[in-house]
Amino acid sequence: MSNLIDGKAVAAAVLEECRNEVVELKAQGVSPGLAVVLVGSDPASQVYVGSKARTCEDLGIFSRKIELSEETTQDELIKVVDELNADPAIHGILVQSPLPNHIDEEAVIRTIDPRKDVDGFHPESVAKLALEDSSGFVPCTPAGCMRLLKEAGVETKGANVVVIGRSMIVGKPMALLLMSKGSDATVTVAHSRSRDLPGICRQADIVIAAVGRPEMVTADWIKEGAVVIDVGVNRVDDATKKRGYRLTGDVAFEEVASKCAAITPVPGGVGPMTIAMLMKNTLKAARQLG
Ligand code: NAP
Repeated sequence: MSNLIDGKAVAAAVLEECRNEVVELKAQGVSPGLAVVLVGSDPASQVYVGSKARTCEDLGIFSRKIELSEETTQDELIKVVDELNADPAIHGILVQSPLPNHIDEEAVIRTIDPRKDVDGFHPESVAKLALEDSSGFVPCTPAGCMRLLKEAGVETKGANVVVIGRSMIVGKPMALLLMSKGSDATVTVAHSRSRDLPGICRQADIVIAAVGRPEMVTADWIKEGAVVIDVGVNRVDDATKKRGYRLTGDVAFEEVASKCAAITPVPGGVGPMTIAMLMKNTLKAARQLG
């Protein structure tokens, strides 16, 4: 399909850039390191943490996987983060979400040294993004979406962009990136209280869907020739699949694809970019910390 934005291919290119950067950093005596902390045994989190560690290994980045039991207290977790903050072999720290209910995730994130906040969730990172201070860390998924738009040759300057979703992980940072100087888009952020969402989307040159509702965005929401970035990853029951479900995005792919200029698939679109941008952030932290 000619209008498909191939996230796997772009992510592979980003990882190749990272591989070269690792060689350069090591030549300067800096061996980049990432620590990933997992609390509990959520199967999806285990898969994510495993693939982050494997990607590090493949690129020559040192990685430490710290697996803690479901019963770990908030204080114990913060102590682990403090130790990683002080560890010179670690440049990036990631605490895998979701945490068990008895732990205040935001309180834990605030204890991460902002210079090692490769997820970009610390308040200092959020502030730097809003201030357009390039020394900060941009959350990986929206950073990946920006890179996909760039690689696909999509002009954001002056474009009307609708971001559906206002989470701190995707929607809000996405909107900040798009409206920043250089990107120069006119951004509308929609959410569950927005009125006439289909009408809002029909005005858009670019739609970024980050909702978590399978195939919510249908062809009648999309202007002919628009660009669609589908961040959603949803499990939908499917008896024809061996595992009993399939993954689908927030966009009704087939019908929307036939109408738009470019679109990301799910899987194989935004997903692979998230991990690639995490590697980029880790190398940035290593460069800045030295
Ligand atoms: P989230 O925190 O649940 O936020 C969802 C947002 O969508 C909220 O702002 C919510 O509005 C809005 N929303 C919910 N229902 C809506 C509706 N019917 N109409 C309009 N807006 C609606 O989710 P998230 O963390 O941002 O993630 C969004 C999706 O992206 C999920 O499918 C997630 O799995 C996926 N994701 C993928 C990656 C990746 O690497 N590919 C990374 C992160 C997330 P309110 O604020 O009003 O509640």
